[in-house]
Amino acid sequence: MLELLSVVMVGIGLGKLVVEVINVGNELLDGRTLNSNLQWMGGRFSELGYVIGRAVIIRDDLREIASAVREALRRKPRWLVISGGLGPTHDDMTLEGVAKALGRRMKVNTEALEMVVEHYEKRMAEKVIERIELTRERIKMAILPEGAKPLRNRIGTAPGVLLKSNSTKIVCLPGVPREMQDIFNNELIPMLIKESKGGKIVMKHVEVEGVLESSMAPLLVEVMQVFKGLYVKSNPKGVEDGKSIVSVDFMADERKGGEKLVNEAVNYFNERLKELKRREEV
Ligand code: ATP
Ligand code: MG
Repeated sequence: MLELLSVVMVGIGLGKLVVEVINVGNELLDGRTLNSNLQWMGGRFSELGYVIGRAVIIRDDLREIASAVREALRRKPRWLVISGGLGPTHDDMTLEGVAKALGRRMKVNTEALEMVVEHYEKRMAEKVIERIELTRERIKMAILPEGAKPLRNRIGTAPGVLLKSNSTKIVCLPGVPREMQDIFNNELIPMLIKESKGGKIVMKHVEVEGVLESSMAPLLVEVMQVFKGLYVKSNPKGVEDGKSIVSVDFMADERKGGEKLVNEAVNYFNERLKELKRREEV
């Protein structure tokens, strides 16, 4: 069943704000992995009115990372997003490279450590692991440059990281696409929306009952393709009475016909969702 919860207007401007991206990983340069993170981020940023001014791919090398970060900061982008190399192994050295570029020390971050411990507690409850051992590799994921704020990773272990250097906000995200996307959607997008002031965004929430977020995912992409300029975000709310509840937000710039766009998109979504449910029930 679909229920239209509310129509709210929030002050969000979608001006062109410049972003730089650094993708870290040997596998991106030796043909093993396609840099799909950049393509995905490009889509999200442009939907929100941001522009990626430059993107570079570098190897897992401390000096390379530090030098790419310093170089990017010289151009003073609004955001510098770095993906890859946040994991527990010795070749994951992104944060150390960032600390080097900023001249900051690396320190155990209590909040990040709590997130890492919480993650392993969940795995223990699910019987994936028998006990939590805070090994050096696990603690490593909570060692962040001084002054950093950890960003919750709901899928994997390593938290994302937010830092500020003069007028640039630096965000470090894991390389694993699902983890990167989770932190981007849940932690970064709200900040991007809050930051860009000026115009207004029209937003509608729709609560969907009985369709899994994963079944709905292709439809969300389809809606954004049909309604250009619209941004759609799903938030799973859990399970009630054996049925999954997902809240879906529809957002568009008021100055670009947002009201009409959002209304039409919601109608389209509702119709297509009915078809989807009929198919799933068969
Ligand atoms: P982990 O905890 O798994 O080590 P991490 O943050 O250290 O995570 P990486 O080691 O850099 O991330 O990459 C993990 C996996 O994610 C790699 O196997 C790689 O295939 C994939 N990956 C990394 N960067 C990208 C990218 N830019 N695009 C697509 N896939 C990527
Ligand atoms: Mg790694």
